[in-house]
Amino acid sequence: MTAHHSRRNFISKAAVAAAMTPLAGLSAFGREYEAAVERTPMASPPSDLKITDIKCGYIRGSLFVKIYSNQDIWGCGEGVDAIPGTYHLVKNFGERIKGKNPLNVHRLFEDIRKSGFFQGAQSGMYIAVLSAIETALWDLAGKALKLPVYQLLGGKFRDKVRVYCDTALYQRNLPQPSDFAEAAKKSKQMGFNAIKFDLDQANDPNKYDFYNWTASPAELQRMYDQLSAAREAVGPNIDICADMHGRYDAVTAQTIAKRLEPLNLMWLEEPIPAENVEAYKLITESTSTPICAGENHYLAYGFRRMLEIGAVDIVMPDLQKCGGLGEGQRIANLANLYYVPFAPHMVASFLGAMACAHVCATVPNFMIMEWQSYFHTQPMFKEIITFEGEWVKDSFITVSDKPGIGVEINEAGMKKYAIPGVPFFE
Ligand SMILES: [Mg+2]
Repeated sequence: MTAHHSRRNFISKAAVAAAMTPLAGLSAFGREYEAAVERTPMASPPSDLKITDIKCGYIRGSLFVKIYSNQDIWGCGEGVDAIPGTYHLVKNFGERIKGKNPLNVHRLFEDIRKSGFFQGAQSGMYIAVLSAIETALWDLAGKALKLPVYQLLGGKFRDKVRVYCDTALYQRNLPQPSDFAEAAKKSKQMGFNAIKFDLDQANDPNKYDFYNWTASPAELQRMYDQLSAAREAVGPNIDICADMHGRYDAVTAQTIAKRLEPLNLMWLEEPIPAENVEAYKLITESTSTPICAGENHYLAYGFRRMLEIGAVDIVMPDLQKCGGLGEGQRIANLANLYYVPFAPHMVASFLGAMACAHVCATVPNFMIMEWQSYFHTQPMFKEIITFEGEWVKDSFITVSDKPGIGVEINEAGMKKYAIPGVPFFE
């Protein structure tokens, strides 16, 4: 018998006893008290935990999923990139797990992954939504068991997770080398010891053809000048990496990777589109500049061939997109078999950042994780979550010790950023 039932029986008996007394008013009092206890959240054994509902909201580029339970605790997770228009997918997946125990995270993940056609060979929106749900399940399980997610994932190698600051200069039109230098210095002043820049510019006036992504000599010079200015601004001991967002061809990738070698980059990211890992291998083998990819690959299966053939020097799955926290840990462990470091991509809110940090804490080959400069400049990111404490200090996030992920979404704060016509926690 659960504590809940024991208390209920006791109160019922008290109410009956009261009803048998000449003071009839006491019986009404007893019933009210019993009803109040019924409304009060009561803990029951984890085995009695059941998923009751699943709701979602869309803010900026993120899908936020909230999974409710019969014990007045809930879990939240986030998905990114491949999430627009996925409301009905969330509801469909939610129906599959309603009434089930959320503590069986891996099993529920498999139930959803294999519930579509082709027994789980999925990617894109399907896996991005699954990532948000899986993360919410870990959060819920942690709260139910009163343990932080890193503990559920096997414990931590480190208390703090190193991050690099993405300067988000792509949001400026045609940034100059001086902009790169200024952003690098600013990031260093903020305490970051690693910085990322974007080299691809679709509107570069030196580009000859929009559809052909062979960089012209002037574009290659522009890329070198930008990163060279950043290196000069911060010196040799700050890590610098550069992203090309998969927009170039193999000859451009090989040329620029070679050209950038004297700048000692931490990595050159997605110089070519993601699909052809054999092409990645040719580029990786042609240069001493480390080559990195993974944010557009899904599930551990998406990383198998890449790792087997040595296509990249570093893997960077996006945990809000590749399958979630368990799958992110699996990818890291798979990479570790090849002595390849794990440096996850991260463009979510601070909820997603902390969720990712839990996984980073649990794998030996964690290298560094992404952090966004706009966390510091756009008030929205503070308003949409609730978290006590410092987000980042001197290029490190301290992994939360609270049950679950340790960061809560703030639905009231999110409301003003809700997209009109798009479901908001329905
Ligand atoms: Mg990238």
